[in-house]
Amino acid sequence: MDTKNIKIENIEINSSRFHIWAGPCAIENEKQFLKTAEFVKKQGASVVRAGFFKLRTSFDTFQGLGEKALSFVQKIKKQLQILTVSEITDPRQIKYLDSVTDIFQVGTRNMYNYELLKELGIYSKPVLLKRAFCAKIKEWMKATDYILKNGNDKIILCERGIRTFETSTRNTLDLNAVAFLKKESPFPVFVDPSHGTGLAQLVSPMSQAAVCAGADGLLIEVHPNPIEALSDKEQALNFSDFKELILKLQPLLKLYNKSL
Ligand code: PEP
Ligand code: MN
Repeated sequence: MDTKNIKIENIEINSSRFHIWAGPCAIENEKQFLKTAEFVKKQGASVVRAGFFKLRTSFDTFQGLGEKALSFVQKIKKQLQILTVSEITDPRQIKYLDSVTDIFQVGTRNMYNYELLKELGIYSKPVLLKRAFCAKIKEWMKATDYILKNGNDKIILCERGIRTFETSTRNTLDLNAVAFLKKESPFPVFVDPSHGTGLAQLVSPMSQAAVCAGADGLLIEVHPNPIEALSDKEQALNFSDFKELILKLQPLLKLYNKSL
């Protein structure tokens, strides 16, 4: 099936482009966000991850800076001329996120939150809809209707791994889903090998595999100093590994007639 082209400000998701959306798991402070955003942009990322509200398994872990990060992110966004993607966990956050984010991310825990999806349907911003870790591909495809039928067709799907019996990796990255959706769904498909594997060393090989499976883009966690990251430190790439990943992807992208 032909994939819908999606225009987001000055970028377009289409068959000749491959997108890398990268940045920290969570915004931790101004310096960390600025440094990471600047670096990933320079390496060719078209969108920067800007996580304000984090959904963490443990209540006592870092939950994101929330509203406290709004003003400095707004400033950095202008300064660097970057586009951002941010997870939204509740419709009440739209009023905070509207001015600092260009794409709303629906995380794995909220794919089934149909009220949230309906609200994002009324809104016109593009939505990156992640797969619930327990969702069948068909359930995921049906979830898009809650956005689409409320008037918003700017939907990008993101495979981020599912829960299986396997425990050596954080999740099982289902690249079958990518190849399947490219045949059966009109929406672009991204892959998140960071959450899909949970291990920084596996991010590059699975990113390369995602290109071959037909993905339109990648969502990658990058941190200036992963061992000090406040969330998901095992899976974040440091700057030199991110740079190397982009170099590794270039010849593959050329093979598939795509460019960053
Ligand atoms: C994220 O990308 O920041 C995230 C929390 O991912 P997921 O919802 O896939 O766990
Ligand atoms: Mn994360």
